Amino acid sequence: MRGGHRFPPSRPRARKDSMRLALLLTLLLTAHLGRAAAPLGQVAPPAVFRFHLGTAEVTVLNDGSMPIAAGDDMRHATPQQVRQALTAAFLTSPVETSHNAFLINTGARLLLVDAGGGDLVPTLGRLEANLRAAGHTPEQVDAIYITHMHGDHIGGLTQQGRRLYPNATVFVNRREAEHWLDPAEEARAAPQRRELYQTARARLAPYQAARKFQTFEGDMAFEGGLRAIAGHGHTPGHTAYVLQAGGKRLLLIGDQIHLGALQFPYPQATIRYDYVPAAAQAERRRSLEDAADHCALVAGAHLPFPGVGHVRRAGQGFAFVPLAYSPTGQPVACPTAAPAGTSP
Ligand SMILES: [Zn+2]
Repeated sequence: MRGGHRFPPSRPRARKDSMRLALLLTLLLTAHLGRAAAPLGQVAPPAVFRFHLGTAEVTVLNDGSMPIAAGDDMRHATPQQVRQALTAAFLTSPVETSHNAFLINTGARLLLVDAGGGDLVPTLGRLEANLRAAGHTPEQVDAIYITHMHGDHIGGLTQQGRRLYPNATVFVNRREAEHWLDPAEEARAAPQRRELYQTARARLAPYQAARKFQTFEGDMAFEGGLRAIAGHGHTPGHTAYVLQAGGKRLLLIGDQIHLGALQFPYPQATIRYDYVPAAAQAERRRSLEDAADHCALVAGAHLPFPGVGHVRRAGQGFAFVPLAYSPTGQPVACPTAAPAGTSP
């Protein structure tokens, strides 16, 4: 086109404007395409959290989550206390609740505390994938210490009726094992609870058949600084474990706490699945007092993932302080003077 000179005053300006417009469109288009290029994550990435306790390496493996209906499921708390506690924690009911298992590498042996729900519940069963994401295989696990035999803690022991952990021995408190494996106890249970007994028998049977199942009494000392603390609140033989390493203790409290947002400030609050609520209350208070007064770490099967942290006294109850993330998983230290009854 050579006729452009007919409009000498306006033509260069028009060209400049159109160039600006083209540039703007290109930028907008690039930005738009850039955003669309990254697909939405449909499944949560691996939920694995690692820290050190002395020479021991502890890896939290999330198994998924399940809802707790705070109003219906929780007992020994007034509706007002439940409301206030949830509001203070920015939660509404039902509360999505983590299911965590804990892998301990002593340097010589690989120990797993609880085995997750496996295929029993659609929203559980992520433990194996997270174990692999943490760099381990089920074959490497040497021992599995069970806190109690509810399905969400033992369902993951087997897959299609076969042992998922072929080299592991499963340890369960004798009282707990006898209760859940006894057909007479099942017959005595309410009809809607009988499935729990059938599940327990089915998931333990392959380990019993392979002679990879052992029961123990009370406060048993195991390997690598791991020890059992017997209880009978949540279930007849509910067991907490303590890992002592490098001058620090980790209390693996199992199901002593289900809804931390309520049960730290109101430790008297129980859940309707508790076998002996008064004993569950006492066990929980003992653990929380111990943790608060001696700067022990607490690891909860149902505390929000990774569910590990310190505890301090707060009013009539307690407050939970999650362990800070460290990309290098440095050993955790205690302040020389643990804060008692103080708020920062
Ligand atoms: Zn339970």
